[in-house]
Amino acid sequence: MTDATDLLRAAVAAAMPGVRTDLEELVRIPSVSREGPASPDVVRSAEAVAALLADAGLPDVRVLDAEDGAPAVVARVPAPPGAPTVLLYAHHDVQPAGNLADWDSDPFEPVERAGRLYGRGAADDKAGIMAHVGALRALAERHPDGLPVGVTVFVEGEEEVGSPTFAAFLAEHATLLAADVVVIADSANWQVDVPAFTTSLRGLVEVYVEVRTHAAEQHSGVFGGLFPDALTALCRVLAALHDDRGAVAVPGLAHGPVPAVDLDEAALRAEAGVLDGVASIGEGSAANRVWSMPSVAVLGVDAPPTERAANVLLPVARAKVSLRIAPGQDPQAAQQALADHLVASAPWGVAVTCVPGSRGSAVALAPQGPHAEVARGAFADAWDGTEPVHMGIGGSIPFIADIAGQFPDATILVVGPGDPAASWHGPNESVDLEVLRRLTLAEALLLERLGTA
Ligand SMILES: [Zn+2]
Repeated sequence: MTDATDLLRAAVAAAMPGVRTDLEELVRIPSVSREGPASPDVVRSAEAVAALLADAGLPDVRVLDAEDGAPAVVARVPAPPGAPTVLLYAHHDVQPAGNLADWDSDPFEPVERAGRLYGRGAADDKAGIMAHVGALRALAERHPDGLPVGVTVFVEGEEEVGSPTFAAFLAEHATLLAADVVVIADSANWQVDVPAFTTSLRGLVEVYVEVRTHAAEQHSGVFGGLFPDALTALCRVLAALHDDRGAVAVPGLAHGPVPAVDLDEAALRAEAGVLDGVASIGEGSAANRVWSMPSVAVLGVDAPPTERAANVLLPVARAKVSLRIAPGQDPQAAQQALADHLVASAPWGVAVTCVPGSRGSAVALAPQGPHAEVARGAFADAWDGTEPVHMGIGGSIPFIADIAGQFPDATILVVGPGDPAASWHGPNESVDLEVLRRLTLAEALLLERLGTA
């Protein structure tokens, strides 16, 4: 380990108490993007992030949005001559807390238990923001006359609703965001003590399906048994999404490559709180099913709530269906295949119509070349010599496909503050504070070494 590495390691260690305090302040802002792009809390979290980046010494900090988009923060320091520019990505919006009864503590009042900080957004992705801020603070400490590398920090505010205006934002601000290396801190590590580069992500498409059977509600005593109701017919349509083993039954969908590593199915079962007796579904290794195969789920149904349900044949019922797609799958073709399958599964001649919802691409990355090698070394040093593994994730980060398309020559690194126990999007979300320190150090080492290479 060189002197420079040790000095930066010490600067990061000194920065971590402040990083943790500021992370807690961000978690206290319930920036739930599902509340709408102009939600006061989303606006307030953008302003808080802008203040942190200005305070970290970035001379050019702006809060921007595309039309109808949530506020994003862009902060820049130009590259010295000959040095590369690094784009550091995170997002400041969060998922809703969900059922408060499932949380052991207030989701928006962070608390530490056993080395982990709990709260909605503590990991996803406010820890990603703070890794960037902490790395910049440590780097500024070591380079008081100016950073050795160009840095653009981009913190968006609508990732958790699928980045609906990102493509427009990118088109409008492409020159602001242009970079040689992109570090996306919105993913997970393989284990707390094993870093990872995420190289495969599934995409996501959604379809709204509606079933109609007759003109208006009718008495189930008068007509029941002679004509079907729309909700029962919808259940039949939705039942056709899987075969009897639980594999996706939509024909024509692509499968990605079989991963080199596997996930611990028993650990995932415990993490998800799957009830005894509930089987896993589908076929192949756990990693293959979660990373490289499509999966389909029913997210919501429009139907009367049970306490108001009357003895009538319902004339209309609606559902929102979500399909995760494998790397290599064209999203538009997958959305059409899903809609075609739903329509073809209509029983008894009922009318089934589909309306497409959102659509996000799957991603396959292969980080290689000199910048990727510097990154590999930085992460290995931050994890005391343990090299990063290449892993997939079953989720989607819609922004990655857009940025990869816009900057095809950039080295794209998908890293993050997560680990298998982080419970992203679930109750009791948490970040391991030691992982946050290592990620902060890895980013600081990467920035310094890219600038002085
Ligand atoms: Zn995220």
